[in-house]
Amino acid sequence: MTTYTVRIGDLVLGPGAPVAVQSMTNTCTADIEETAAQVLELARVGSELVRFTVKDEDDARAVPYIRDRVRQAGCKVPLVGDFHYNGHLLLSRYPQCLEALDKLRINPGNVGAGEHHDSNFRTMVELIAQAGKVARIGVNAGSIDKDLLERGRRENEAQGSPRSEHQVFLEAMVESALSSAAAAQKYGLPPERIVLSAKISNVPDLLWVYQTLAERSPYVLHVGLTEAGGGYKGVISSAVALGILLHEGIGQTIRVSLTPRPGDSRTQEVYAAQEILQSLGLRQFMPQITSCPGCGRTSSNLFQSIAQEVETYLRQRVPQWQAEGWRGYQELKVAVMGCIVNGPGESRDANIGLSLPGRGEDPQALLFVDGQRRETLSGPQLAQQFIERLEEYARLHYSPPAGSSGTSASQEVR
Ligand code: SF4
Repeated sequence: MTTYTVRIGDLVLGPGAPVAVQSMTNTCTADIEETAAQVLELARVGSELVRFTVKDEDDARAVPYIRDRVRQAGCKVPLVGDFHYNGHLLLSRYPQCLEALDKLRINPGNVGAGEHHDSNFRTMVELIAQAGKVARIGVNAGSIDKDLLERGRRENEAQGSPRSEHQVFLEAMVESALSSAAAAQKYGLPPERIVLSAKISNVPDLLWVYQTLAERSPYVLHVGLTEAGGGYKGVISSAVALGILLHEGIGQTIRVSLTPRPGDSRTQEVYAAQEILQSLGLRQFMPQITSCPGCGRTSSNLFQSIAQEVETYLRQRVPQWQAEGWRGYQELKVAVMGCIVNGPGESRDANIGLSLPGRGEDPQALLFVDGQRRETLSGPQLAQQFIERLEEYARLHYSPPAGSSGTSASQEVR
């Protein structure tokens, strides 16, 4: 089980620390403005580490400028560079790139083959160690170290093939992570600056790989289902895989790798990761919204649209509350219910709740505050009225006292 603790600026990854949410940009890293803007957007909604690829010299040259833009905006989120194939060259040629990063990801399957593998890996690790940075050794099923896999196959054959080809593959993933971590320590990287991951896209395989890694390794683990896909499939597969592992205490930081639909914001993967942690009761990011699914008792989409508007409002407002130093808003319970069957009960249970009348809805609904029926909201601006009451309630209970400066955005938005 994980025993080490990794510190990256103010962020702590390790036993007892909150499981951290991370994400990755999908801009061209060399586009400084776009990449810095997306880093800020991801950090604003709660990504506690943000990674971008560093694939070539243009990207490596851009990294210090991206760091400067992000820091000038008052954002302290740790920046992670993702290196494949040529990381040893880029880091040797562009020390400013290394200096600008807080953490670097090395894929041991993509650092060169044969005799070059070890020297390329060693070059990267030694540079990272000398610079005092953190490294993630990130194995991926799609780019497994072929030499190591071949060795596993030969050993299995020599023993009469007691294990399936698939099992040999999974064991090679674990072995790649563990042997690379041991080599990194040998090359000067302390275990408190090593994070391990071994990602695969099949849920049962991911569970076996991480359960085995957790059994055999003391390192901080970054957990994620790679190439999870998009839409329901991506979210549900990730939630199942990460939910099981986190419930078993495995994983100190997570990323949900969703394929966005064209035009979708990259922030979806941050929200998905937060929802997983919140569903497990491991962290609280957002007020809880209780809304019923609706049924034949509702005859219009009024209640669905109010529920949607409330959620959108809170998603946008919570980062501002955080930046303004509001406290305790994560405990807020909001209800938006379709009819009288369960509406008043759930609304009374919430801090602030709205119960619509059900079939044949007039645009009017009962408002409950702290268990008491308070008023009837009505008219075409019903959603807006409810949001105003919600904001009033939050301001009264969670905003900093008058005269307090709260917490500045630069302190809060990591
Ligand atoms: S609260 Fe009313 S509208 Fe909502 S699911 Fe229950 S019965 Fe249907």
